[in-house]
Amino acid sequence: MPPRRLKGNDNAIKMSQKKNIAVLGATGSIGRQGLDIISRNPDKFRATVLSAGRKVDELIALAKEHRPRLAVIADETLYPTLRDALAPLGIETAAGAAALAAAAEADDVDMVLTATVGYSGLEPTVHAIRAGKDIALANKETLVVAGDYVRRLLKDSKSRVFPVDSEHSAIYQCLQGESSASVRRLIITASGGPFRTWESSRIEKATASDALKHPNWSMGAKITIDSATMLNKAFEIIEARHLFDIEPAKIRAVVHPQSIIHSMVEFNDGGIKAQLGVPDMRLPIAYALGEASRIAGASEHLRLEQFANLTFEEPDAKKFPCLTLAHLALEKGGNTACIINGANEIAVDAFLHDLISFGDIYRTITHALEHVDFIATPDYDDYVATNTEARRIAAEYVANTHFI
Ligand code: MG
Repeated sequence: MPPRRLKGNDNAIKMSQKKNIAVLGATGSIGRQGLDIISRNPDKFRATVLSAGRKVDELIALAKEHRPRLAVIADETLYPTLRDALAPLGIETAAGAAALAAAAEADDVDMVLTATVGYSGLEPTVHAIRAGKDIALANKETLVVAGDYVRRLLKDSKSRVFPVDSEHSAIYQCLQGESSASVRRLIITASGGPFRTWESSRIEKATASDALKHPNWSMGAKITIDSATMLNKAFEIIEARHLFDIEPAKIRAVVHPQSIIHSMVEFNDGGIKAQLGVPDMRLPIAYALGEASRIAGASEHLRLEQFANLTFEEPDAKKFPCLTLAHLALEKGGNTACIINGANEIAVDAFLHDLISFGDIYRTITHALEHVDFIATPDYDDYVATNTEARRIAAEYVANTHFI
């Protein structure tokens, strides 16, 4: 898929109408910041659908505030609570994965902000693409797990993808007005996470509370752990490969501890374009909701003089072996990234519950890679089966691991 560019004039015409947004994963960090952008720009946006996984009280509160047409809770056991709270307000309610998928393709939805975390984001995103909805893509697992499949779907759909992840938004911004033939490399910046300066032996034994202290970004627990292992960066490399249709060899990560440059594009004339800003997800969210147009006041303004030193270093793949999984997944292809993701979701959950050590996260993933069958050209059902099997094998491995 080439970078999906828009002409400025098209944006202006489209943005003159109010856009209806389905916010999937409304109670999470990206969902809430998305709702903040939506509510501060009532002339441009309306939140028409809100969904959450299990946080029903938070979903009810958000629905009371933002008055969507429909609120969906993924956990069906929580449906009565949601219905009883919102029915008196005339807000429709639904529950379960099928209801979420249906909400993503509803007629009154123009764009879906996929802010759910993890594999569960894949199904509603696939439905939204099939229905031709535009996607503000924050759920990175969609392209990580099923990148080839989703790209095939996008070829036959009028749906456009606007990246929300700060790195991909930065690259997308840098690519505006450029020809893809002139791109030499995509340079994805990484903060390096909380263990950047730690010795390997200390990293091995790090606890969940150590890992949750991210130096720059305030994010959900799952992505903060992925950031500490640098698997998050590996996923972003995979995602970039699919989003920008670029050879894996042309994508590299560089550690930039200040998180001011959000990513860069190097061109074949030697020039490098970078996108800078304060570490605030509201800017990339607004840029995606606005279809690559700029929404005034989306984030705080950066005072460059406060950052006398912007530094860069090579990532240390010995300390952070999860980083090497990106190129492994892209070289092997097939369901490899789906295995990595499924096993990682189990491992991170176990780590957050202090059941395994930090070093065990990588070992759980490699164990799953050795034991789940490789499928070279998976279809949708193969991804579902791979995810289930990877999680089962990872859970078994975790259960036999004793964290001392
Ligand atoms: Mg990111």
